[in-house]
Amino acid sequence: MGRTFNRTLVEVVEGDITKIEVDAIVNAANSKLRGGGGVDGAIHRAGGPSILDECKKHDGCPTGESIATTAGDLPARYVIHTVGPVWYGGDRAEADMLASCYFSSLARAVDRGCKSVSFPSISTGVYRYPFDDASRVALSSIRDFCARDTSIERILLVAYGAKDAGRYSEILEEFE
Ligand code: ADP
Repeated sequence: MGRTFNRTLVEVVEGDITKIEVDAIVNAANSKLRGGGGVDGAIHRAGGPSILDECKKHDGCPTGESIATTAGDLPARYVIHTVGPVWYGGDRAEADMLASCYFSSLARAVDRGCKSVSFPSISTGVYRYPFDDASRVALSSIRDFCARDTSIERILLVAYGAKDAGRYSEILEEFE
């Protein structure tokens, strides 16, 4: 499933984000930037120790912000680590912080001259953000970004499993 936001192609794909070749892979990291479970663990395992070595140069990362490192052995030039919000029910600015993750990561990708970026579904694993709500926040933030900046050609929304991929595609169809 794909759609064009302004001049950027936005596609939902199913699979393991560590296997997909792009200029920048976004990681759903935690604020300590020292690795973890879920997609964070998969990225550090597949990319090797150089990613953690570079993360250690940073004193963590606040929620909603992002930092870029080498992608190590991954098929990408950079990993952009962003820290999603933990879901507490929706009254603690979770949507604003999640939108900011997408916006900040794309801005960092542009700074580094990237043309293609892949995102996991930030915060929808251990951080418990409801998947459909998170997908809508992700897509509106990406659409806002693409309205202002046309330098990224392709954005891949990587869903882990057929069920998530199906939902994400349906939600993408709701967007114009
Ligand atoms: P968070 O702490 O931000 O919730 P998680 O890693 O627990 O981060 O989950 C975020 C999303 O990443 C979930 O939807 C999960 O299914 C997905 N995910 C886990 N492993 C991978 C992977 N290898 N590739 C793509 N997505 C993944």
